[in-house]
Formats: sequence, C-alpha cells, structure tokens
Amino acid sequence: MSHSIMIMCEQSEGRILAVTDELIACATQIADHYDSRLTAVLPGLITEPCSISGADLLVINSPGLAQYTCEGWEKAALLATEQIKPKIIIIAHTSTGYDYAPRLAALLEGCCLTSVSGIEITGDSISYRRSGFHGKLDLLYGVGKAPLVITVLPGAFPAPDWQAEPGITRIIDADIKPKLTSHVQFSIPDQSNTELDHAEVIVAAGKGIGQAENLLMIRDMASCFKRSAIAGSRVACDNGWIEYNAQVGLTGKKVSPLLYVACGISGSAQHISGMKDSKTVVSINRDPEAAIFRYSDICIVEDLEKFIPAFLQEAKKHQS
Ligand SMILES: Cc1cc2nc3c(=O)[nH]c(=O)nc-3n(C[C@H](O)[C@H](O)[C@H](O)COP(=O)(O)OP(=O)(O)OC[C@H]3O[C@@H](n4cnc5c(N)ncnc54)[C@H](O)[C@@H]3O)c2cc1C
Repeated sequence: MSHSIMIMCEQSEGRILAVTDELIACATQIADHYDSRLTAVLPGLITEPCSISGADLLVINSPGLAQYTCEGWEKAALLATEQIKPKIIIIAHTSTGYDYAPRLAALLEGCCLTSVSGIEITGDSISYRRSGFHGKLDLLYGVGKAPLVITVLPGAFPAPDWQAEPGITRIIDADIKPKLTSHVQFSIPDQSNTELDHAEVIVAAGKGIGQAENLLMIRDMASCFKRSAIAGSRVACDNGWIEYNAQVGLTGKKVSPLLYVACGISGSAQHISGMKDSKTVVSINRDPEAAIFRYSDICIVEDLEKFIPAFLQEAKKHQS
C-alpha cells in the first residue's frame, strides 16, 4: 500500500524551523513500512533558496503568505494537496499548527487527530497515540477516512542525528490573498525572567487555584523558601493570574529548580516538558488520578485551599 505523505514545514520569516525535522522523523516511521513519498510544503514569502533533508520540498510562494494567517496557510495547504494527493498530512502541534489543522481536515472532508505523540504500525494499519483526560490516559486511535491530518507534539519524535540527502525543491508562485483575516502586527513579548531562571524553589499555580485571590497563598508559600519564585501553567497565565514570562512549559520557560511545587496543575504533556528536569517535584491536587502525580516525588491528594493554609500555619511555627 502506498502512502503519499505531506509534511507542513514550520517556518519563521521564511526560515524552516527545527521542529520540521521532527515531523520528517514521524513521517519516516510511516514511510519505512510503506512505499511512501515524503513531500514537505513550505508556505511563505520565500526569498532564499531552500531544501530539506529526507523529503522533497514544495514551496508555495506568495506575498499574501509573508505572515501567518489561518486562512492563508489553509489555502496554501489545499493547493499543495492538489499536487501531492496525500493520504496523511503531518503538522506540528504548535499555536499555528493546531489553529489551521482542523479546518484543513474539514475542507478536505478527512479526519483530524491532534496532539499525536506516537505511532504504532501493525500490518496495513497505523494507530496513533495521544494522551487524553488531562494526561491521565494513553489513548490509541485507528483512523478511517483519508486524508488524515495529524498534529504532532513537539519533542515526541526526536529528529535523527544524521542528515539525510535533501530532496528536490519545486516552487509554485501563487497569489494567495486571505480575505477574512489580515496580519496587523507581530511582536515578541519580553520573556526574560531572571527571578525564575535563578530560583532554587518554584511554586507554580494552575487552574486549580480557582481565583486570583488564592495567589496570595501561593506567594506566601514561595516566601517560606529562600531563592524562590512563583510561576504558572498556561491556563493560569491565560486567566491573568500569572505573567506570561513566568509560564512554564512547551511554549513557556524550561525550568530545573531543586524543588518544584505544582499547585492545582493537571500535568499536561505541554506543562511537563517545561518542568520535568526539576530535582524534586511536589504536587498538590485533589484528583488522585491527576497525571502530574506520575512525575512527582511527593503527591499530596488534597484540596489546595485546605492544604496550603495548613502548611503555612505549620511553617510559621517553625519560623518563629
Ligand atoms: C501548542 C500548545 C502549547 C501549550 N503550551 C503550554 C505551556 O507551555 N505550559 C502549560 O502549562 N500549558 C501549555 N499548554 C496547555 C496545556 O495543554 C494545558 O491546557 C494546561 O497545561 C493545563 O493547565 P492546568 O494544569 O493549570 O489546568 P487543568 O488542566 O484544568 O488542571 C487543573 C487541575 O487542578 C486540579 N484542581 C482543581 N481544583 C483544585 C483544588 N481546589 N485543589 C487541588 N487541585 C485542584 C484539578 O484536579 C486539575 O488536575 C499548551 C497547549 C498547546 C495546545
């Protein structure tokens, strides 16, 4: 059975980003079992000659693709599918990737599976692994209707150390004009947070803290330790409780303190990737099945609104 596989390159300002090699590594796992042709697609306003290791490259070049828009990327991908006729389309599970992947699948009347972290191949069938229920379960999906659009978690398929030969590069000059959306501004927020970089103890708040007022006890807990800082999960940052420069995880900071205290954090793969190198992890979560406990040295199954005040009271006794 032949599988034509299309890989959507992740790019910034026309340059192909390293995560694309991981997508090729994922595609190669499938290609190793089938007679597959790998074609990477690079949408953008591309001014420099380019190629990619391990796959042919189809550049969809258009001034309307100078900056990412969901509509623009979806149109570029559709144009590419007419050329490649893929059975499987592989996209990075990044903030842009998971933005356009489901729309692309719907337009192609195919299937979409997001956050894929592994592949299992038996005979003619491929199953895709992802976690579910806030990381509590490992799920294996078989999929039916082609084309299948998958988004792949960054870090799940390590890029090979060696560089395969680059394939052939082809360029299509297109006139893609997003009609519904236009790019206004692109700015990189200040991600520097020296406090977090140098902290030996990090107390991190998740959605489970419930309300901004509970940040006070998170701060009080952090101040029980020298060289400490507070941080948060993405939900805590999205809720405005914690600054984005203190978000821990895949799209935030990677931290490795001596002690990481996770308060009301479920333990999504994206959060774990930012704190898994912590020396000791203590988690407070009222759900005994919370995924964070799999990565914790000390698991406290309790409502944090009960546990943290009790902890602070006890800590006070020892300080005085
Ligand atoms: C491309 C992409 C990138 C991402 N990058 C990041 C990233 O960098 N960092 C990140 O954190 N997330 C990231 N996410 C989001 C991630 O998938 C999760 O949605 C997020 O980590 C969940 O945050 P949380 O654990 O605070 O919330 P939830 O998953 O909602 O968990 C809340 C937890 O609190 C517990 N809880 C509730 N009330 C209490 C209580 N009173 N006492 C004790 N426990 C309680 C619950 O049992 C639950 O386990 C990313 C997602 C995508 C798609």
